[in-house]
Amino acid sequence: MIFVISGPAGVGKGTVVARLLTLDPELRLSRSWTTRPRRPREPADAYVFVDRKQFQSRLAAQGFLEWNEFAANGQLYGTPVPEAGDGDLLLEIELNGAEQVKAADPGAVLIFITAPSREAREARLRHRGDDEPSIARRLAVGDEEEALGAGLADHLVVNDDVDRAAREVAGIIAARRNPPNLE
Ligand code: 5GP
Repeated sequence: MIFVISGPAGVGKGTVVARLLTLDPELRLSRSWTTRPRRPREPADAYVFVDRKQFQSRLAAQGFLEWNEFAANGQLYGTPVPEAGDGDLLLEIELNGAEQVKAADPGAVLIFITAPSREAREARLRHRGDDEPSIARRLAVGDEEEALGAGLADHLVVNDDVDRAAREVAGIIAARRNPPNLE
């Protein structure tokens, strides 16, 4: 089964996902490809960091389940086509990509993470050390995503506290794996 985590920049998706992976060892996190340069303190395995030519050639070979040019920075991001037998896969991607995944696999579950406030998103973006224009663009794109996400998602989770939010997501995933028998 595919579980997709989406949500505007600065809601703390990455932290929730990291906590979720410790709560649910059966989940495998898909590693995306991106043309975005690696941030100074970012782990080398956060993405497969590639140039545009490498990205385009994987794209031409039908190597992505979904991909998108992220509006806030013009960089390309894509989810490699899962290998057979990958088990339960967790994707952390923006909303346009999430819609593509749902179109390709209607059984995929879209969980949208929101922040308690716009101020909380802004504070988190600032903390990450992005420059001001980039913060402003990510906030604006995030406003649009927040408006759209509520309508598209199967589940909405507010990241008011990382542990609580991760446990809520883990509960959603467990319930989707084993739906209650209502007969
Ligand atoms: P960042 O540059 O902050 O790492 O990521 C920017 C946005 O791209 C985030 O919303 C992130 O979730 C999204 N993203 C990361 N990987 C992928 C991917 O493979 N596909 C798509 N569509 N979005 C992605």
